[in-house]
Amino acid sequence: MRLSRYPLPTLKEDPSDAAVASHKLMIRAGLIRKESAGMYAYLPLGLRALHKIIQIIREEMNAAGAVEFLMPELTNADLWKESGRWNTMGPEMIRIKDRNDLEYALAPTHEEAFTALVRNIVSSYRDLPLNAYQINTKFRDEIRPRFGVIRSKEFIMKDAYSFDLDEEGLEKSYQAMRMAYRNIFRRMGLETIPVEADTGTMGGSQSEEFMVPSTIGEEVLLLCNSCGYRANQEKADFKRTFPAFETPEELKEVSTPNVRTIDELVTFFNCNASKFLKSIIYLADGKPVMAVISGDREINEHKLKRALGAAELELAGDRIVEEVTQAPVGFAGPINNFKIRTIFDLSIRHISNGITGANKKDVHYTGVNSGRDFAIIEEADIALAVDGDKCPTCGAPMNTAKGIEVGHIFKLGYKYSKSMNLTVLDKNGRAVHPLMGCYGIGVNRTMATIIEQHHDERGIIWPISVAPFYVWMVGIGKTDEEIKMTDEIYEMLRKASIDVMYDDRPLSPGFKFGDADLIGCPIRLTIGKTYFKGGEIEIKLRESGELQKCRIEGLLEKIKNIIEIQFARYAAK
Ligand code: ATP
Ligand code: MG
Repeated sequence: MRLSRYPLPTLKEDPSDAAVASHKLMIRAGLIRKESAGMYAYLPLGLRALHKIIQIIREEMNAAGAVEFLMPELTNADLWKESGRWNTMGPEMIRIKDRNDLEYALAPTHEEAFTALVRNIVSSYRDLPLNAYQINTKFRDEIRPRFGVIRSKEFIMKDAYSFDLDEEGLEKSYQAMRMAYRNIFRRMGLETIPVEADTGTMGGSQSEEFMVPSTIGEEVLLLCNSCGYRANQEKADFKRTFPAFETPEELKEVSTPNVRTIDELVTFFNCNASKFLKSIIYLADGKPVMAVISGDREINEHKLKRALGAAELELAGDRIVEEVTQAPVGFAGPINNFKIRTIFDLSIRHISNGITGANKKDVHYTGVNSGRDFAIIEEADIALAVDGDKCPTCGAPMNTAKGIEVGHIFKLGYKYSKSMNLTVLDKNGRAVHPLMGCYGIGVNRTMATIIEQHHDERGIIWPISVAPFYVWMVGIGKTDEEIKMTDEIYEMLRKASIDVMYDDRPLSPGFKFGDADLIGCPIRLTIGKTYFKGGEIEIKLRESGELQKCRIEGLLEKIKNIIEIQFARYAAK
């Protein structure tokens, strides 16, 4: 490829709306351009890297026994109604109508579509196991699209759906994907950590997210260095330590004018936050519920949602809080509150002589003890695990890290095969529902994450496996003779099928070197004075900055050698 014939609009300045390195670099290096909020076009150079990523995914999926399909992007509303998700998917799903008023969704995911297709093409236990995948666009009307292609409204996902006869088969399919994912990401230069993830309220028994540790990550991970427990904060358990019981004191009403928050209460009562029974009103599927937790902890809304069995959960507004507690916000508590469903965190039972709102304006209770002053009917772990909390498996203190989620594997169980009535005949001729799993990789997000992990102040440093070109050849000859000599080297590389871009633009060497560093292909060749005068081609490695000289006779051999060495670094294990 000759750069003079290639659209490569590189930029010197960071785009003003880009907050993270990968987003800035993808725009500056001419890989993508913004179309509108959360939507990006790929330019030829960006598309080359994207295709290399897709190719690695495809190779590893095929090697793991999965087979490739391609589904429509428009998915019929009837399918979503069958599974019950037409009403539960919420505003992230983009719904449209055709000229005949038939309803569709622009697929945010394809569980329904694949279940319906497989229902059509599979009939016997002999047809299973099946792992069907595609590499296709997804649409999600994200509330906050950000970080360029890391969270966009339209993105490419590799999604796979496994169908197995029994638990053992599902476990095998799941583990095969787990292995494939590690290999896929490793081959792209990403070290991932699989962490336990929330399976939500929609069924499913086991789920892991593949995280790349990064300060820009939107996910918080809890990691135990001692035993290797790893979980998304949304899911993370932790071992509790409870205070010793104290002799119960009398329950008393105390006037607390305008003292509402935990901080204000701590100052007012001059005691530890763990003494308070923090009571928060939520709306669970539209109905008010109270969640009560020790004042030194935060509620994990994912755990709460699961404990309540709710599909939707949101904090109640002031008006509802006032209606439910008969008091202004800040004075809610579990005593004399029989009106609404109340769920207690595991911490509450262990608070002796606690303090809580009295459901009256400017009044709190002291000397609060569960059992005597209120009954714990529903109890669950609804607490958010934080840095320093004890590992649920070994008890060692855990630490937190931020991560970018690049992939997700999930045991769905019978959810879709039952709701959409997918069956196969087993050995005895009985119709049985297969167990399903689903497995996603965000292709564009993966590309941005690679850049996030592999760059310096000058630009991208592509791992060779996903670099748009292996070799970036800069010609700085000026005379016809020099240009001819440079063209000859390019022709030689091209004929030898070396993946090379030739910067033949009539621009200054400084400018061309700047672009070469910004774009970050692993091997830079310079055909300059040392070659025209002394016959030596300069080879520079983008990552290490290492410089080598080589004569034309040894060039192909040398380049092939470097390519091989660099690939070996990113080999699957
Ligand atoms: P997130 O929590 O980041 O919203 P998710 O749980 O909605 O992700 P999945 O439904 O599991 O994501 O989708 C599989 C993969 O698709 C994710 O692991 C991620 O890599 C990618 N992905 C999800 N949403 C987006 C998006 N808006 N833009 C780009 N990639 C995305
Ligand atoms: Mg999402």
